[in-house]
Amino acid sequence: MNEGSLGKKHESYGPIEGLVMLNCRQVTRLVSQSMDVRLGWYQRLAVRVHLFYCVWCRRYAAQIQFLRNAAKELAVEAPSTSPAKLSDEAKGQMRKRLEEALKNSPSSPG
Ligand SMILES: [Zn+2]
Repeated sequence: MNEGSLGKKHESYGPIEGLVMLNCRQVTRLVSQSMDVRLGWYQRLAVRVHLFYCVWCRRYAAQIQFLRNAAKELAVEAPSTSPAKLSDEAKGQMRKRLEEALKNSPSSPG
C-alpha cells in the first residue's frame, strides 16, 4: 500500500470533525427515544450538534420536553385513587396543547 498515491481526500468541515451528521428524521427519533431510554454520549452529542443549527428539530425537542413536563405535572397532581378518570382529562389537555404547538410549527423538512 502506497499511502501517498491516494492523494488528497476531500475534507469536510462539520461542526465537529468525525461526528456523524444526523438527518432530521434520525434526530426526531432519537429525541423521542431519549424520553424513555438514556442515549449514549455519542448519540446525545450528535443530536446536540444537529439541534444547534436545525431550528425545526429544536422546536420538536422543545415540544416533546414540554409535553413530558406537562405529563409529569399532571401525574403528580393526580390522586392515586382514581388515575383512570384524570388520565382522560390529561390526554385531552395534552392533545389540545400539542395541536396548538403544532399549529405554530413551520412545515416539515424535506
Ligand atoms: Zn433537523
